[in-house]
Amino acid sequence: MSAEATNPASPGAVTSTSLEQGGTPAPRRRARPRIDLRRLGRAAFLGSAARDRLPDAIGHVAEAHRAHHPDADLEPLRRAYVLAESSHRGQMRKSGEPYITHPLAVTLILAELGAETTTLTASLLHDTVEDTDVTLDQVGEEFGAEVRFIVDGVTKLEKVDYGAAAEPETFRKMLVATGNDVRVMSIKLADRLHNMRTLGVMRPEKQERIAKVTRDVLIPLAERLGVQALKTELEDLVFAILHPEEYRHTRELILGNASREDDPLAEIADEVRAVLRDSGIQAEVLIRPRHFVSLHRTARKRGTLRGSDFGRVLVLVNEDADCYGVLGELHTCMTPVVSEFKDFIAVPKFNLYQSLHTAVARKDGQVAEVLIRTHQMHKAAEAGVIALGNPYAPPSEEQSDSDGARADLAGDGERVDPTRPGWLSRLLDWQEAAPDPDTFWSTLREDLAQDREITVFRADGGSLGLPEGASCVDAAYAQYGEDAHACIGARVNGRLATLSTVLRDGDTVQLLMGQDPASEPSREWLEHAHTPVARIAIQRWLAAHPTHDEPADGPGTPGDLPEAEETAVEPAREAVGARPAQDGSKPAPDASPAAATAVVDQPGATVRLAGCCTPVPPDEVTGFAVRGGVVTVHRVECAGVARMKATGRAEVGVHWGDTTEARVTLVAESFGRPHLLADLTEAIALEGVAIVSATVEPPSQQRVRHTYTLQLPDAAHLPALMRAMRNVPGVFDVSRAQHHVAVP
Ligand code: MN
Repeated sequence: MSAEATNPASPGAVTSTSLEQGGTPAPRRRARPRIDLRRLGRAAFLGSAARDRLPDAIGHVAEAHRAHHPDADLEPLRRAYVLAESSHRGQMRKSGEPYITHPLAVTLILAELGAETTTLTASLLHDTVEDTDVTLDQVGEEFGAEVRFIVDGVTKLEKVDYGAAAEPETFRKMLVATGNDVRVMSIKLADRLHNMRTLGVMRPEKQERIAKVTRDVLIPLAERLGVQALKTELEDLVFAILHPEEYRHTRELILGNASREDDPLAEIADEVRAVLRDSGIQAEVLIRPRHFVSLHRTARKRGTLRGSDFGRVLVLVNEDADCYGVLGELHTCMTPVVSEFKDFIAVPKFNLYQSLHTAVARKDGQVAEVLIRTHQMHKAAEAGVIALGNPYAPPSEEQSDSDGARADLAGDGERVDPTRPGWLSRLLDWQEAAPDPDTFWSTLREDLAQDREITVFRADGGSLGLPEGASCVDAAYAQYGEDAHACIGARVNGRLATLSTVLRDGDTVQLLMGQDPASEPSREWLEHAHTPVARIAIQRWLAAHPTHDEPADGPGTPGDLPEAEETAVEPAREAVGARPAQDGSKPAPDASPAAATAVVDQPGATVRLAGCCTPVPPDEVTGFAVRGGVVTVHRVECAGVARMKATGRAEVGVHWGDTTEARVTLVAESFGRPHLLADLTEAIALEGVAIVSATVEPPSQQRVRHTYTLQLPDAAHLPALMRAMRNVPGVFDVSRAQHHVAVP
């Protein structure tokens, strides 16, 4: 959406919106308001010209508000206008206009986007406490606690942009204010938009400074709040100030395209209309011109622009299911560019946005991007949180008809609470978790500076929004919070991948989690962590565990630590639905149930099967006493046995008990391929064997090593089990674990 051309500072002197063409309007129960920021500047102008005629001055606000909320009570708006107008009277904008034109324009922006009455009331009053004799108490008395709270929040935010010295701390406060009530931020964004539109009257240095803050803080916030309509206009306004040359060039491209004889995009839109008419799907087909920044990015990416690059085809339908109907028709009757297909309905982005994205190609090489969404999704895409209505109203109050944004959006964890979009909750969580304001501020700024978000799909359903460049480490912390410390690996698009793997838009990621609650993050994860949530969690853990580089004082000797169990893969056990191994008749304090199968010739001793050679009946075994009355049992061939004997350690006699149950650790060497883990665990389960734990090492040279600790009901079954595992495609060797361990 381009800026209004009536404003001198606006870069929108050339709007390509004239290209917007309506299709056959679908019959609807009642007309839905079209969001139209182009009228805003004009309305503000009329407001100033007619400032003494009250009904006219807020007439546009009232009209826009009623279009979204037919039953809205306009009385608070009238009173707020009277108070704002009288208290600002005599004040002028730098442009020479009466000051009241500013709160009016800000309020109109919000009304057009569908904000509710309380927000609009607060918006009309948003500068009164800061700039006039009106006090916060007075606002509270006349308009209630809610309006007072919002005005207070906006007044505090007003100081944030300019108070560079106190930045980290002030910004924290700003976020807290936003977190308490997103309507504060809605007003701030609309306020910034109007100020940016009228920035032309400022000195160039000041324009530049304000544009940079807008770029670094306000635009990312607008994106995260899902307010696409404000975000795109702000981007163009910033672009015009900070990159005047590129801006002029882009403007020329748009002018040049507008004067073309043919219009491939319009032709493709006609084709789409014809396809949908034939299929009987009621849909509105529009052309959405790209905004300047979007076109500039496309031009840079592509080198030269095709006629079809200047906009996108937008298909609006009535029902969710129609979106997929339209997609099916387009993919059948036209030539789809399948790689461009993205489903942001089933798997929404982080910020309220829902749509299907695809692209269709013509024989002449023209490719048009197509967005498919319902009218309701369109409203949410354009207005984001602003369209969500009063966050405090009970749901039934706002959504008595199909107009209730929240009705469509609830049920997704990211969206249930409109005052707290998921990212905002996370932001507020980090600011509590960050060790100091500087860490918080720098990580936040980095996060906001991310150009793009990518969406990765979770193997278990759902999705994660991550900044571009994010790795599996980031995905782990985004999904599991601090529990991600226990992450031991990942599969990306079905293949095992190291945690440092950088994720791309549309990747499917499955995180492999260890089952040890005391798992530790690796120090080197910090190198691969880009998101604040991951960085802060890892740094916090490292700060709390300064000596973790020293060897852990685990039970038994290092040689006895069953390595495979240190980092077990929980999903493997779930995948086969196997029960954890049951304890035997003699519970052992070291929690090794299989100990019951070995009997030590030493009264009172606790038995532990050595992890280095994992003995099972009928292996010949021997034992060594270690700390705490524990005897470790090794196979007699174990290299550790020879070394311990060589150092003069005394052997303890051991023999196998009556039970045939056995625990064994097997290593499967395989070529990496999708579904390998699933196939191996299935093969094990089919043999009736329970998986106690499993580890998957990161692949090297296409090879993967899986280590399984298994509980066999009968030790004699081991050869058959190993054969079954070797028969899994891709597996080239299965062997008993043989660790080379140091002699204590
Ligand atoms: Mn203001």
